[in-house]
Amino acid sequence: MPFRDSVDKLVTVYFAGITAEKFEYKGERYVPKSIYVSPLIFRGYTCPSGCGGCCPRFSLDYLPNDPSPLKLVERKVEISGQIVSVRSDIQSDLSDHYCRHLDTKSGRCNIYSHRPFTCDFELIRFLHYKERVVITQKLFGRGWAMRRIDGERGAKCEMIETDNYWHSEVRRKLDHLATWADHFGLKTRISTITDWIDSGPHDIPLLLKS
Ligand code: SF4
Ligand code: SF4
Repeated sequence: MPFRDSVDKLVTVYFAGITAEKFEYKGERYVPKSIYVSPLIFRGYTCPSGCGGCCPRFSLDYLPNDPSPLKLVERKVEISGQIVSVRSDIQSDLSDHYCRHLDTKSGRCNIYSHRPFTCDFELIRFLHYKERVVITQKLFGRGWAMRRIDGERGAKCEMIETDNYWHSEVRRKLDHLATWADHFGLKTRISTITDWIDSGPHDIPLLLKS
């Protein structure tokens, strides 16, 4: 499997969705889009044992001051001409399909309490269209193709009703995204979304014009 850099996903999916200013990354230019936050973002999901479908080998990335039990290497990322440090295990020494921290008997993460941002942020999904991004919580679009530890295909997760726990998880994850964006010096519209999370109304979507 080719190397997959989670910082690319962080920047081109998440930062591109919540940015309040233009930025450049790897020769591409990103401009603010209208944001539509669906009330479905508060849904929860199950993660039964024996799956591991969303844990292939990709880079595991941490902020400089994040606690981590892992052996990490500092690397530099360029965004709009600025150089930013992250600490990573890019797992380039592995040829396995799966992340080195996946227990391939149980399908569980061996570093769950210290999993990196891009693992933790799922299943919040940013669906990009030309001039707007829809932010919601939903199953993986290609979940049917995910390779499970039992050799079969198909992610086992299912969406479930929201409750206070899932509500607070959405808030926590967006705060975590804001911390990453701050580290990259990016102005975002996350605070408007977290205000909506705190105050509602949650029976209608939140729409932020670009
Ligand atoms: S760190 Fe944990 S959650 Fe993330 S890919 Fe590896 S096993 Fe999965
Ligand atoms: S694909 Fe779904 S069920 Fe499978 S490990 Fe990931 S979150 Fe859990």
